[in-house]
Amino acid sequence: MNHDRSHALFTRASELLPGGVNSPVRAFKSVGGEPFFAQRAQGPYLFDVDGNRYIDYVGSWGPMIAGHAHPQVLDAVARTMRDGLSFGVPNPLEVTMAEAITSIVPSCEMVRMVNSGTEATLSAIRVARGATGRSRIVKFEGCYHGHGDSFLVKAGSGALTFGLPNSPGVPKALADLTLTLPYNDFEAATALFDEVGIDIAGLIIEPIVGNANCILPREGYLQHLRELCTRHGALLIFDEVMTGFRVALGGAQQRYGIAPDLSTFGKIIGGGMPVGAFGGRRDLMRQVAPSGPIYQAGTLSGNPVAMAAGLATLELIQAQGFHDALEASTHALCGGLEAAAREAGVAFHTTRAPGMFGLYFREGPVESFADALGSDAAKFGRFFHAMLERGVYLAPSAFEAGFMSSAHSEADIAATVDAARAAFAVVAAA
Ligand SMILES: *Cc1c(COP(=O)(O)O)cnc(C)c1O
Repeated sequence: MNHDRSHALFTRASELLPGGVNSPVRAFKSVGGEPFFAQRAQGPYLFDVDGNRYIDYVGSWGPMIAGHAHPQVLDAVARTMRDGLSFGVPNPLEVTMAEAITSIVPSCEMVRMVNSGTEATLSAIRVARGATGRSRIVKFEGCYHGHGDSFLVKAGSGALTFGLPNSPGVPKALADLTLTLPYNDFEAATALFDEVGIDIAGLIIEPIVGNANCILPREGYLQHLRELCTRHGALLIFDEVMTGFRVALGGAQQRYGIAPDLSTFGKIIGGGMPVGAFGGRRDLMRQVAPSGPIYQAGTLSGNPVAMAAGLATLELIQAQGFHDALEASTHALCGGLEAAAREAGVAFHTTRAPGMFGLYFREGPVESFADALGSDAAKFGRFFHAMLERGVYLAPSAFEAGFMSSAHSEADIAATVDAARAAFAVVAAA
């Protein structure tokens, strides 16, 4: 595979953009090598500037659940954009979007549109703090909620100590207000709430973790967190930026039958445009400006073109059987990969939810962040490059989930498994 043009672009980019990219994981740092530059994308495929084609299992990190450049989405964008790109006054598509979200996700009685997942989570914890009058936030090891200061925090020694900044530039005073729990640990959550429950404004969680590879909740775990929050007067916040509209039409909260107090969305609801949203109980959302005192605003929020792309995507995924088919194809892919690994004698395990999956170079089960960290990242790096050479693009990190779209056909899955047979042999020989 020739990568001359990508290499030339990356050389130029590296002088001008930190790390040559506008978002860190794109730089291939954890798998080595250089990223390729996309020229265009169609259905399940990415095409790079050197003319190579890849079967894409990243899908722009989630939004492209109906495949790239879907004609219905592009048509909606083209139609809408001809009327102007932004108005700075309300537009009808914002109302249609709010109706769509609140009807698909019943726990969201009201919503506010924003421009990214990061903005959604930042705003949701402000609402939690403003509505409860409390300061502390609880999050989970391995969960990612965007790059807001309050989320770039790791656990101190022991769950009950203060959090530690995970990045320069995050003030210690702010990190102190974020407490971190191990995901899927029932007792740790109970103990934390027993100790400091009275100070906790909200608990935020990825109900299925998609930012530490892919980890599913243990039976009853989300229900346990729901009960703890209710008992201690803290708000339960589901960060469904990744899982929303993917693992079921109504997201993980539908799949597991839990009603959070607040939810955050992004990715799919923008259909590939920069969009996020937060929403929840009416009594909480009514406290957001201008109907209430909790401030939140955005010049481009509810942008008509972005709403059009999101609405067209939401329409596509409401087709009968959409998520069942996505679940079946995710299983077919993961089952094929596991079989190929067995043939090659490589220790390998997958985790699966409809439309998203985890690949682990270790034996299962994987139920905690520590389990996920036990995956052999060097083996993953070899596998990643062996797949890339064979025209399959996986997330360029051992600790990111993979994404499936409705555009991936049986033939694409079969071609991926064929490539994996050869790639596992490379891993086994190393
Ligand atoms: C991607 C993601 C975010 C951040 O969204 P951005 O649009 O990148 O700011 C937040 N939470 C979760 C669970 C995500 O997967």
